Amino acid sequence: MDQISGNQTRRQLLKAAIGGAAGIALGAPFLRLSAAQTQPASDSTGTLKLADDLFVVRMPGQENVIAQTGTEGVVLVDGGSAAGSDALLKSVAGLPGAGPVRTLFNTHWHPEQTGSNEKLAKAGATIIAQENTRLWLTTDVIWPWNGQRFKRLPKSALPNKSFYTDGKLDSGVRYGYISDAAHTDGDLFVFFPKQNVLAVGGAVSGQGWPVVDWVTGGWIGGIVGGLQRIQTLADANTRIIPSRGPVLSLADLKVQYEMYGTIYDQLTRLLNRGRGPSEAVAEQPTKESDAKMGNPDEFVRRAFESLWAYLSPDA
Ligand SMILES: [Zn+2]
Repeated sequence: MDQISGNQTRRQLLKAAIGGAAGIALGAPFLRLSAAQTQPASDSTGTLKLADDLFVVRMPGQENVIAQTGTEGVVLVDGGSAAGSDALLKSVAGLPGAGPVRTLFNTHWHPEQTGSNEKLAKAGATIIAQENTRLWLTTDVIWPWNGQRFKRLPKSALPNKSFYTDGKLDSGVRYGYISDAAHTDGDLFVFFPKQNVLAVGGAVSGQGWPVVDWVTGGWIGGIVGGLQRIQTLADANTRIIPSRGPVLSLADLKVQYEMYGTIYDQLTRLLNRGRGPSEAVAEQPTKESDAKMGNPDEFVRRAFESLWAYLSPDA
C-alpha cells in the first residue's frame, strides 16, 4: 500500500484492478436502493415469475436462485445452502415445465450458493463456475474478522466445468467472468437473452450494505468496477437479479455506482492520509446513505481492510 500516491484516482485504481483480486458482498437489512422498477408479484411460496420459463425461487432464509425450465432440462443459477437444498429442489421440481436439473451455475464459492452441488452432481448435472470459484471450493477458508470457518467441498461436489472468461450454453444463455472482484475473485454473471434477464450473483447487493470478503479477493474498488462492468451488459429493460434482495434495474445500478464510487474515493483519501479502519468508521464516509442502508460500521471496516488487502496482498 505504500505504492499508492496521493493523487491516484479511482479510474487508475480500477484499471489496476481489472483482472485483479476478489470480494464478498453479503447484505444485511432488506432495503431497496431505488424504486425505479415495479416489482413483479411473487406467489405464495415466494417464487417470482420472470417469464413463462424463468423464475426466481426464494426460499425463507436463502439467497435468490434462478431457474429456467425447458425441454433440455432445468438450468439453475445458484443452488441455495446445503440445509435448504431439499426444499429448494422440491420447489424447483414443482415449477411449470420443470424436468431434471441439467445445469447449475455457482455464481461464487459461498455456501449460500453451493449447497446443492453434491446432490446435483451425483444426479449428473453439469456444474459451471469460474475457475477461481472452483479453486476456493477445494480449500478451507477462514474469515479473520469473525473466525468463521468454511470447509472445502468434497471432490464430488466441486464444479465439473470451470472457465476463465466466458461461455455459452446450447440454448443461447451466455455467462462470463466479472473480473473486478466485487464479491469474490470468482464472480460470474449469467445472461438470459430471450427474457433479457441478467443474474449477477453477489457482485451486486440488492439488500443493505455488502460484507466485503477480502479473504477471497473482494474489495471496495471491485464493487465499483463490477457495477461499472455490469451496466455495460444491461439495457433499460434488463431485469437484474442479485443474490440478495429484489429485482434491480439499470437505473438502480447507476445509483449504486455513484454511491459506492463516492465511498471508495473517501476511503482511499483516508488511506492516503495514513488512517486505519477504526478511523474510517469514525469518519462516517457513508452517512448520506445510512438512513436507507442501515448501520454501515462493519461494511466500512471491511471495505477499508479490503484496500489494504488489495493494495498490499503480501502484507
Ligand atoms: Zn456471497
